[in-house]
This record gives sequence, structure tokens and C-alpha cells, in this order.
Amino acid sequence: MTVLRLPAAIYQVIRAHGEETYPHECCGALLGLSASDGWQVHDAVRAGNTRTDSAHNRYHIAPVELVKIQREASKRGLDIAGFYHSHPDHPAHWSATDLAEAHWIGCCYVITEVALGKAADTNSFLLAGLVEEDKRFECQSIVVEEQSIDRGGN
Ligand SMILES: [Zn+2]
Repeated sequence: MTVLRLPAAIYQVIRAHGEETYPHECCGALLGLSASDGWQVHDAVRAGNTRTDSAHNRYHIAPVELVKIQREASKRGLDIAGFYHSHPDHPAHWSATDLAEAHWIGCCYVITEVALGKAADTNSFLLAGLVEEDKRFECQSIVVEEQSIDRGGN
């Protein structure tokens, strides 16, 4: 099983974002560096939920926003490690729609259940596979790191 390492501050930010947008979904991107066993996250970037038709159970990051996030990340020597979104009053497990709309193979997809406005479980799933046709989500363990991480060196 792969590992997603999240500094405690970022873990809190992701969960608080879901509480803030409740009963709608929140979404954003995770920036970090790949490690031999998974991802080390260095930052989280909020994104506007552009799904106005069904914002309570769908999320979407506009392509133009994603390009901007990616450009900012590479300026800082980071990659897009994955994405996060919330499930208002639904378990922190991926849906068929989540899988269909996930295209970043090798990246992690973090889901937080927000139950009655309070963040509950947070789980991460790695989008595994080689091509779009055989992509699948694999459970990933989340390690929340207490101390701040060193961003230097890269
Ligand atoms: Zn979802």
C-alpha cells in the first residue's frame, strides 16, 4: 500500500475547507513530491467548484485554473500530487463518478466526509493503472505529520 504524507496543518486545511463549503462540495489540488512509497505533500491549493448544477455531489476544477495551479507548482519545484474534495453527508469513499472523472494516473485523490457540517473521515485513494482503460482506485494510507516540513533543497 502506498502512503500519502500530509503535514498536520494541511490536513486541517483540507478538512476545514469541506466544513466551510458544506452542504456543497469543496475541491482543491495537493502539491508535493513523489517518494519511493507514495507522495509527500507540501501544500494544498483551493479551487473553485465550477459545478453549479450539482455542487453538492459533483466537483470539478476548471482547466484554466488547473493550468495555473500546475504552473505555480512547477515554479516552486513541486508537482501536482493529487486532488481533494469533500462528500457532504456521504462516506469518504470514491463514487463511480469520481473514478470516471479522475484522469491523473499516479496521483492521489483525497476525500473527506462532512457529516452535518463537521469533517468526519478522510481517506486517500491512489489512481492506479497504466492507461485510462484500466485505471482504478487503490486505498492509500494517510500519514499526518506533526512537525513542519523542510521545503528547501529542491
Ligand atoms: Zn466524490
